[in-house]
Amino acid sequence: MDEPRLKLAIQKSGRLTDPSLEMLARCGLKISRGKDQLMAYGENMPLDVLFVRDDDIPDLVQEDVCDLGLVGLNVLEEKRLELAARGHPVRFEPLRTLDFGRCRLSLAVPQGQAFAGPAGLAGKRIATTYPYLLENYLRERGVTAEIVTLSGAVEIAPRLGRADLICDLVSTGSTLQANHLREVETVLESHAVLIRTPLTLPPLKSEWVERLVMRLDGVQQVRESKYIMLHAPRAALDEIRRLLPGSEFPTIIPLEGSPDKVAVHAVCRETVFWETLERLKKAGASAVLVLPVEKMLA
Ligand code: ATP
Ligand code: ZN
Repeated sequence: MDEPRLKLAIQKSGRLTDPSLEMLARCGLKISRGKDQLMAYGENMPLDVLFVRDDDIPDLVQEDVCDLGLVGLNVLEEKRLELAARGHPVRFEPLRTLDFGRCRLSLAVPQGQAFAGPAGLAGKRIATTYPYLLENYLRERGVTAEIVTLSGAVEIAPRLGRADLICDLVSTGSTLQANHLREVETVLESHAVLIRTPLTLPPLKSEWVERLVMRLDGVQQVRESKYIMLHAPRAALDEIRRLLPGSEFPTIIPLEGSPDKVAVHAVCRETVFWETLERLKKAGASAVLVLPVEKMLA
């Protein structure tokens, strides 16, 4: 009998596509995908990837077509609120927060227009493609406003006179700026999420979900992690240890011919910023090297 295969839905073409594929490749998945094909076959895991519009991903898991999905929290929460409003049960579970697809759903007003806080939204027309999230935001603040639901091009709605302000996704803010809009409030901080079906999966599928999640955790930890090597005066060791971000047990190695100095090697599990390196240098560190970590298994 054929082995049961996991089905994972990812965005077909958009901002989440490349980071999702890269993440899967880093988890060791090799897929063969013909041009414009809807499905790719996992060659070395019993897992197939379905390429769809991001908005359809929660539905595919909800309706048991896929076991797993990679989607933005914004899309997921919108769907969750929509299902709740319609009295339907939610049938997808978040498994992991992923470190890509970062953006926020924000309110933005035309530049030069004042914003008097959420209370000032009363009676205003707000254009969005996220009516449920916006409605939830307004309800929580006890504000009544008119939600203008659009399917796209939200940022030009104020100029067209269709709305007074907008509620849209922002990452750098350059699109807002280009449309003479000013971000004033965050409705939701978003990032990509791995979701799964609440169904109990057969043992083999279930085992592969576990393996995939374990690899994902490793990949994400490694992404931030750096291997730091430096020379330090023995007298400054305590301070240097304190400065090394997220590393509990650095390796201390004596340096041949300089009894007052040691080499320090450490895996730092947090982002190493230039400021940290400058502080290390100030504390007496020299010959500082920061290297990427390829793989890690705790
Ligand atoms: P589709 O055709 O799949 O429906 P789309 O136009 O809805 O595509 P994209 O613009 O590719 O989708 O965005 C997909 C997801 O990427 C968003 O839902 C969000 O989670 C995330 N994202 C990250 N940064 C941004 C950003 N600056 N603007 C919009 N989405 C962003
Ligand atoms: Zn979409």
